Amino acid sequence: MNKAMLIVMDGLGDRPVKELEGLTPLEAAHTPHLDALAARGVAGLMNSLGVGLRPGSDTSHLAILGYDIERYYTGRGTIEVSGLGMDLEPGDVALRGNLGTVDENLTVMDRRAGRITDTGPFVKDLDGLTYEGVTLKVRPGTGHRAGVILRGPGLSSRLSDNDPHEVGVKVHEVHPLDDSQEAAFTARVLNHFLEEAHRILANNILNQERIKSGKPPANYLLCRGAGYYKQIEKFQARYGLKACAIAGGGLYKGIGAFTGMEVLTVPGATGLPNTDIEAKFRAGLDALAGAYDFAFVHIKAADTFGEDGDHLGKMNFINKIDLAFRLLLDAPHLLVVTADHSTPCALKKHSGDPVPIIMVGDGAVRTDAVTAFGERACARGALGRLTGLQVMPEIINLLGLARLIGD
Ligand code: ZN
Repeated sequence: MNKAMLIVMDGLGDRPVKELEGLTPLEAAHTPHLDALAARGVAGLMNSLGVGLRPGSDTSHLAILGYDIERYYTGRGTIEVSGLGMDLEPGDVALRGNLGTVDENLTVMDRRAGRITDTGPFVKDLDGLTYEGVTLKVRPGTGHRAGVILRGPGLSSRLSDNDPHEVGVKVHEVHPLDDSQEAAFTARVLNHFLEEAHRILANNILNQERIKSGKPPANYLLCRGAGYYKQIEKFQARYGLKACAIAGGGLYKGIGAFTGMEVLTVPGATGLPNTDIEAKFRAGLDALAGAYDFAFVHIKAADTFGEDGDHLGKMNFINKIDLAFRLLLDAPHLLVVTADHSTPCALKKHSGDPVPIIMVGDGAVRTDAVTAFGERACARGALGRLTGLQVMPEIINLLGLARLIGD
C-alpha cells in the first residue's frame, strides 16, 4: 500500500444535541460505510492545532498537511490568492478582495456590488498599477471576489483591513498593525492603490451601465486578510508523494495550490450542500490509479450547517457523505478520514473540540475495538489523541516511507 487518500470533512465534529437524543449530528446520522471503515482500521481523536485551540479552516488544514502554522501561516490572503492560480514570490503581500459599492462619501452600500458575477472586466484595469516601487496585481475570483498581491521590496503584511465587514459604514483606511517602517510603508502604498482603484472603477463604462440598469456599481476594492509569503517546501519535496487536491471551495483549492499540489477541477464540486461528493471520490480514485500518490479531498458543507445551527441539515448532509463512501470501501489505498475542526450547531462557530479520525488500510494498518465513526466511538481508538502535525508523519509511516532514526 503506497498511496493515500486524505478526506477532510469540514467542521464535522459537534457536541451532543438535545433534539437528537443527546447524540451529535455525526452519531445520529446513518453511516454504515464510515462505520465499516472504522471497524477495519484504527481510530482516534485529533486536535488540528492542539488541545484547547480553536482552529480556523486555513490554519487547521496547514497543520493536518504537516505545515507548522508558526512558520508558514501569516494570513489567509496568501492561501486565497494561491487558489486563484496567482503565483506568489517571497516577500509578496497577498489579500482577499471583494468588489463592493460605496456612495460619494465612501460609505459601503453593498459589500458584494449586488453579488456581481464577474469581476474580470473591472479588475483588469487595476492589474499592474505601480507606486513607489510596488506593483499591484489583481485577478478575478469567483463571484464578487478578487485576489490582490502587492509586489516590491520592503513590504509587510501587518495591515488592518479596509473592508469594514458591514454596510452603512465608511470604508476604513488601512493602518499598520505594528511600529515597523515596512508596515507603515505598505499601508501608505495600499491606501494609494485603493484610492486609485476607486477612481478607475468609478469611471469604468460598465459601471455607468450598471447604474443605468439599477444595479449597484462595482466601484470599490475591499481588502482583508493580508498575508506575507515566505517560500514553503512543496508537498512532494517534503514527503516524496505526488499530490492532488480536490475541493469545491476556494480556500481549499488554495490550500492545495499553496502547498504545491495539483488542484484538480471536478465538475459538480461546489463546496455547497449540493456538491457531487461521489464525483470527488471518483476523481480521487482516478488520480491515485494514475500518476498521483496522494489525494486530498475536501468536503465543506457540514461546517456551513454547523455555522447555521442546523443540526438536522448537518446530519442529513453526513448521510449523503456516507452514501458516497461506498465508492471507497474497496479502494486499494490508505484511507484517512477526519475533519479540520468541530463546528458545534449549538455554538454556530468553530470550537476547539477534537474531531474523530480513522486510518484504514487492510494489511497495512492495525485495527482496534472501534466499530463506528463518531466523536464518542473514536475516543476509544488506539490512535489516541493526535495533533494535526502528527497526521502526516503517521501516514508516511503507514505507507512504509518513514526514515529510520538511528541505526
Ligand atoms: Zn473548516
